[in-house]
Amino acid sequence: MNESLAFEGRSFCGCDRPYEESQLVLFGAPYDSSTSFRPGARFGPSAMRRDSWGLETYSPALDRDLEESKVCDLGDLELPSGDAELALARVRALCRSIAGEEKIPVMIGGDHSLTFGAVGAASGCYPGLHLVQLDAHTDLRDHYLGSRWSHASVMRRCHELLGSGRIHSFGIRSGLREEFDYAREYGDLHPFSLEEIPSLFETVKDAPVYVTLDLDVLDPSFLPGTGTPEPGGATFSELLKALTLLADLNVVGTDLMELAPLLDPSGASTAVACKLLREWLLLLSRPERA
Ligand code: MN
Ligand code: MN
Repeated sequence: MNESLAFEGRSFCGCDRPYEESQLVLFGAPYDSSTSFRPGARFGPSAMRRDSWGLETYSPALDRDLEESKVCDLGDLELPSGDAELALARVRALCRSIAGEEKIPVMIGGDHSLTFGAVGAASGCYPGLHLVQLDAHTDLRDHYLGSRWSHASVMRRCHELLGSGRIHSFGIRSGLREEFDYAREYGDLHPFSLEEIPSLFETVKDAPVYVTLDLDVLDPSFLPGTGTPEPGGATFSELLKALTLLADLNVVGTDLMELAPLLDPSGASTAVACKLLREWLLLLSRPERA
C-alpha cells in the first residue's frame, strides 16, 4: 500500500487489529470541497475516532464485540482540498489495494462525492457490482454549478460507470424533478423510507454490493450535524434495522458519509454516527465471513 496516510491518536472504537489479519479495513477521508451548502464533513473521521471513546466496543443488541472482530483502522487518507479528481484517484487507489487483498474497505467521510472513487475501485474488482444508496438526496445532477464531481452528482457518475438498474436508492426525499425522473427510468428508486429494502433479496440476490450511507438519510432530529439536512427522514432504529438486512447481502465495500460534527456542538450527531458504524462493522464482520 503506497498511499499517504496520517494517523493521529487512537483507532476507532477498538478497531486495532493488524492490517494483515483484518477482514474490514477502516480509513478516514477528510475532504469536503464539493459540499454545496454547509461545509465541515472533513472533520467527520477525527470526531468519530475521538468520540468513539464514549462508546463500548460491545454491542448488547448483537451480542458481539469489536475487540473480537477482525477490523483495523488505517487512519486518514491525506487528500488535497479543492482537487476533486486527485482526491477521487487517491480514494480509488486505496480501495483497490484493500479490495485486492479480499478485504472490505470502509470509508468514513468526508463529503459524498468521494464515494465515486470507492465505487470505481469496487466495480473494477467485482464485475456486476450493485450499489445501494441510503440518502435523503437523489445526487443525480449531471453537474452542480459546472462541476461534475459535486456530492450532488455522485450517483450520476456512478450510474455512468455501473449502467442502468444497478443503483438501488432508499430514503430519498429531495432532488430536482428531472433527477427523480432519471432515477425512475434508470435506477431502482424507493423514495421516502427504508421499508422496501427487503426487495433487494429479489433484485440483487448474491451479487457483489457496495453500500453507501449518506447520514442525512436520517431525520435531522436524530442527526442535525450534516451539511444538507432534510426533514422527513428515517429514525435511528429504522436505519439500524435496514443495516441489519443489508448485512445479509454480499457487501464488498461500504462508506458512511457527510457527518459534519461542528454543526452539532451537542455531540449527539457524532454519537449517532459512531454507534451506527459500530453496529455496521459488527454486522459485516460475522464469524461466518472468516
Ligand atoms: Mn444527502
Ligand atoms: Mn448524498
